[in-house]
Amino acid sequence: MGSRLAAVSLPFFGLGSRSLAAASTSRVRPGDPAWPAPEKWKQLAEQVGGGLVEVRSPFAECIAAPTGAACAQFFKSAKNPYFLGDDVALTQTFGWVDAWKSSPSVYAVAARHTADVVAAVNFARENNVRLVVKGGGHSYQGTSNAADSLMVWTRRMNAITLHDAFVAQGCAASAAPVRAVSVGAGAIWAHVYDAVTTKAGGYVQGGGCMTVGVAGLIQSGGFGSFSKQYGLAAASLLEAEVVTADGEVRIANACSHPDLFWALKGGGGGSFGVVTRVTLRVHPLPEDFGAVNMTIKAASPAAFRKLVGLIVDFCAEHLVGPHWGEQIRFRPGDILRISMVFQGLTRGQAQAVWRPFMDAVDAAGDDFKVEFSPLKIVSTSAREFWAPTFIKRTLGFISRDDRPGAPPTNVFWPGDQGQAGQFLHGYSSTWLPAALLGPARRAELADALFAASRHWRVSLHLNKGLAGAPAEALAAARDTATNPAVLDAFCLAILGADEQPAYPGIAGHEPDVAAARLRRQAIGRAAGELRKRVPSAGSYVAESDYFEADWRNAFWGANYSRLVAVKDRYDPEGLFAVHHGLGSER
Ligand SMILES: Cc1cc2nc3c(=O)[nH]c(=O)nc-3n(C[C@H](O)[C@H](O)[C@H](O)COP(=O)(O)OP(=O)(O)OC[C@H]3O[C@@H](n4cnc5c(N)ncnc54)[C@H](O)[C@@H]3O)c2cc1C
Repeated sequence: MGSRLAAVSLPFFGLGSRSLAAASTSRVRPGDPAWPAPEKWKQLAEQVGGGLVEVRSPFAECIAAPTGAACAQFFKSAKNPYFLGDDVALTQTFGWVDAWKSSPSVYAVAARHTADVVAAVNFARENNVRLVVKGGGHSYQGTSNAADSLMVWTRRMNAITLHDAFVAQGCAASAAPVRAVSVGAGAIWAHVYDAVTTKAGGYVQGGGCMTVGVAGLIQSGGFGSFSKQYGLAAASLLEAEVVTADGEVRIANACSHPDLFWALKGGGGGSFGVVTRVTLRVHPLPEDFGAVNMTIKAASPAAFRKLVGLIVDFCAEHLVGPHWGEQIRFRPGDILRISMVFQGLTRGQAQAVWRPFMDAVDAAGDDFKVEFSPLKIVSTSAREFWAPTFIKRTLGFISRDDRPGAPPTNVFWPGDQGQAGQFLHGYSSTWLPAALLGPARRAELADALFAASRHWRVSLHLNKGLAGAPAEALAAARDTATNPAVLDAFCLAILGADEQPAYPGIAGHEPDVAAARLRRQAIGRAAGELRKRVPSAGSYVAESDYFEADWRNAFWGANYSRLVAVKDRYDPEGLFAVHHGLGSER
């Protein structure tokens, strides 16, 4: 166990002595004499109305009987993100080689009300028990699980209420009423989209992946497919209810606890308190959403370099703006894959935008081969985008929770299923500044992408960099804790490697450690090619390398010192601590 840390100074952040509070990192564990006695747990159970759960781990059951039918069924079910989300003991990612493995808490408070969260926070603080918070369970970094801990599990706090004219508490004099939605912290985006878009014809900025949790994504900053128009999800936050380390229930908005409000907008989950409810702005919904999908294979590495140059030029000239989102991917085997979405354009307009690129591809003759249909551009009514309509299910555009009796609104994109139960091998993300798309630097960028693709596959997520976004979205993003590098970035470059559900100690399902280490090195080399061109690279806190060395600067840049001050104010003893979270260096 770690010992109580002495106060340490962080001179390079230029902070005063207020920031030097010592944090207790020494927690009691089961078996320690100070571990709370059964009567204390019983009292907590009574306080939370029976919501205290003694956590049982499916991993432990599999370790005991790896070849049994139950274990085989478990690994099959692990491909259903809703199955994972509904189990208090599980996380969407099962672990990361040499970093972490999903570890169940000892007890969890399956909270239904804010008062349950208050009881859990007070219990953890008073008994010096490790506290962990889980919502949607999608942390890649493993920050929503911790062995020997008490968990606050918000899954059941999932009420969704629409408002025609919302004014944040105490803001009547300064803010006009706006359309908004209040969401319990444990809700997932699929259910919010169902309530706001499918049922009410509005737009709320959430995550691309539908099974991500609302509170976790907002605190990450948060990007969805159409963020190039609507900005960071966090930037639409109007108000949050938060239980802070002292057990107080606070309303954070622009007029009440504005410092906490700002920190919650991108300062990272699990660091400032337990968010119990968020209220988000609802935007007008565009008429249509659409998608462009195609795969082009180059005949040789030299031809691929030419193709990379073409897509970089095309991207610079046509794709860095509010209409476009999602990914351009550079794959092994000299393959370029386009998986993009658009809004605010008709299908015909989108086809016209892509025509010059397709003409250039055609003109290259045998150098390139379009592997899927020549140009697959589809569009749908925006209101139906997230709806599990029969036709979308039949065509395989959307998948449903396949457990008997599951609600029809339990849906997810088939493309996200690969990540259910994954064991990570490596990951890296870097915001690429739009300056790299300037005419003088495009060839350098194409060289870097080509060089990176020799080591590992690279995906450029255009919706996760805000260069080209409307002024209003940029101004709102500037007023969040997210690294300001996001404002000038045309995309977030993501490189990742994983394997299908695996878990250490389960015979026949062990992660491939040797392959993982090689892949991690390859990702490092590929990311290095990009980062050479980006001094002081920024990285998205929620989608980043567990081993990111310069994480404070990478995740928050110039905002870090201001975040430390908020942490000191609301959690001076460090009750809330997560890997590479605010103040975790102490
Ligand atoms: C398959 C997959 C797809 C993803 N897609 C996207 C995407 O499209 N866009 C994007 O921006 N990000 C995406 N992410 C990253 C994701 O947004 C973050 O990991 C986010 O923090 C997950 O939130 P959660 O509630 O699901 O996860 P959790 O693991 O439950 O929580 C994440 C962190 O937030 C904390 N937290 C959760 N709830 C609360 C609360 N109520 N109060 C305080 N702290 C809390 C946890 O302690 C933890 O530290 C994706 C991740 C995965 C695994």
